[in-house]
Amino acid sequence: MSERVYNFGAGPCTLPLQVLEEAQKEFVDFQNAGMSLLEMSHRGREYDAVHHEAMALALEVFQAPKDFSVLFIQGGATLQFAMVPMNLLDSGQKGAYTLTGHWAKGAYTDAQTAGEAYCAWDGADCSYTRMPADNEISLESGTRYVHITSNETIGGIRWKQWPDCSAPLVADMSSDFMSRPVQWEKFDIVYGGTQKNLGPAGMAVVFLRTSILEKTNRHIPRYLRFDLHQAKDSMFNTPPVFSVYMLGKVLKWMKAEGGLQAMQERAAQKSQLVYDTIDSSAGFYRSPVDPDSRSQMNIVFRLPSEALEARFLQEATQKGLMQLKGHRSVGGCRASLYNAMPLAGVQALCAFMQNFQKQHAL
Ligand SMILES: *Cc1c(COP(=O)(O)O)cnc(C)c1O
Repeated sequence: MSERVYNFGAGPCTLPLQVLEEAQKEFVDFQNAGMSLLEMSHRGREYDAVHHEAMALALEVFQAPKDFSVLFIQGGATLQFAMVPMNLLDSGQKGAYTLTGHWAKGAYTDAQTAGEAYCAWDGADCSYTRMPADNEISLESGTRYVHITSNETIGGIRWKQWPDCSAPLVADMSSDFMSRPVQWEKFDIVYGGTQKNLGPAGMAVVFLRTSILEKTNRHIPRYLRFDLHQAKDSMFNTPPVFSVYMLGKVLKWMKAEGGLQAMQERAAQKSQLVYDTIDSSAGFYRSPVDPDSRSQMNIVFRLPSEALEARFLQEATQKGLMQLKGHRSVGGCRASLYNAMPLAGVQALCAFMQNFQKQHAL
């Protein structure tokens, strides 16, 4: 095999090498069954064990309390933008949306087609470079939930603290899933696509307060109903077996590495290294976001010119530091430091940034 590169892509993204190698070993012949897990019945003994182990590990690693359920649902985080309001909003109830960037706006757009949704804060005035303070979030009466995007993957900002609101929170945690603890008492639903911190693409993992299922909407197509997914242990229809299998392996890896606490400490350490490199570059590298809202997962930065940015990306690629290009809508550079990005990868990036500056500073 050619040498493994460091993949700073925003998603799908780097996975633990150990997990990839294990999956490779088991791929053709799963547990001496003479066939691949991908060919087996999802109702069979082997898959059933894989499925339930992944469910149990998800609740355990994320430290979810007993009154929460976990669901595996296809359609990624994007389908949850619609499923959440379809299930939660009764007539007369409203979903409050904090518009903090690209993904929050996507959630809001879909919610407006599914129920009554309103904007409780809009970061447009500051070009989505910071998260709001609690007293800037204005809620209307009849608010069923407040939707937040815990980490804006493209803008590179995160909620440093979970807000205090008079209604339960619903959070899209796609891009900082299981990288820090959740104050579960504030939340009714936490969801995210798997392909950033948890595994390959193919589904969303949804944690929800089980008691809310008594009141969720039944008058929607069956696949969209949270209560049915929960009653069937996320085997209402054929589950995405490979995604669930890989999720289980990543969760096992996370647990062995020290769990949520270790992921949180590493995220703080890794992101600090890159922000220190930016802050000590005398303005050569520039972070466009408010320091208090800086993401620990997606670090967005600019260089003095677009020509230098192009050069930076080209030279980084030659050095095996891949996918550092910012999202096409904002330009610049972005380093995504998800759970599986090793410290050595971040150190290599920082060393490269310092060298590049030495060669190209005016
Ligand atoms: C990537 C991402 C999404 C979209 O996820 P899909 O699984 O592709 O639907 C939604 N929200 C956030 C915060 C993301 O980073």
